[in-house]
Amino acid sequence: MTSKQNIDESPIDFAEQIISDVKNSKEDGVLKCVQCGMCTSTCPAARHSDYNPRDIIERVLDGDVSILKDDLIWNCFYCYTCHSVCPVGNSVCEVNQILKQIAISNEVGYDKLYEYMGFADSYFTAAIGAIPEIFFDDIDRDVPGWREFRNNLGEIREELELDPPLVPSEDVIDEVSKILTITGFKAKIERIRASQEVEK
Ligand code: SF4
Ligand code: SF4
Repeated sequence: MTSKQNIDESPIDFAEQIISDVKNSKEDGVLKCVQCGMCTSTCPAARHSDYNPRDIIERVLDGDVSILKDDLIWNCFYCYTCHSVCPVGNSVCEVNQILKQIAISNEVGYDKLYEYMGFADSYFTAAIGAIPEIFFDDIDRDVPGWREFRNNLGEIREELELDPPLVPSEDVIDEVSKILTITGFKAKIERIRASQEVEK
């Protein structure tokens, strides 16, 4: 358990790195964590695995950078439940997103991304993060009728007198592709794909 004394004695550079990240929306939230465990008690990932959001924050406050190589951070799937219940306005969800980005920037955790590469591709082909086809069977199994609903979305919207689904124009797709290339996203995706090839 992290006490005030423990925090004072620990390096907080790691926590400050997370606070200063553009992804962090909760000012100083990490430093305000009181280790109450509300996040852990409501976290679905904690219910079904050894993952523990309270522990994630404790390790960040302890300056334990080994967490970047810990497989457990990949068990968080960004449901934001912890974000909504934290009494001091911290967000383990966002902290995890930042931790994973730092890990990826250091070429750690690439193997956790392989099956999601279709999301990245869809930004280049459709300017949106579309669900990759490899997940369709699983979703249809878990949500019966999902595929039929998806295939008939246009007609369903028409029946409900709603506008057709928004489809980005070619200009928008080109523009998004350029942004993703200039900002280094494309190069990152290529590095992850190259790593996947090596592992095959
Ligand atoms: S709910 Fe908030 S304060 Fe409590 S342990 Fe989780 S992050 Fe810390
Ligand atoms: S966002 Fe992650 S840490 Fe937060 S409750 Fe959901 S799975 Fe747990």
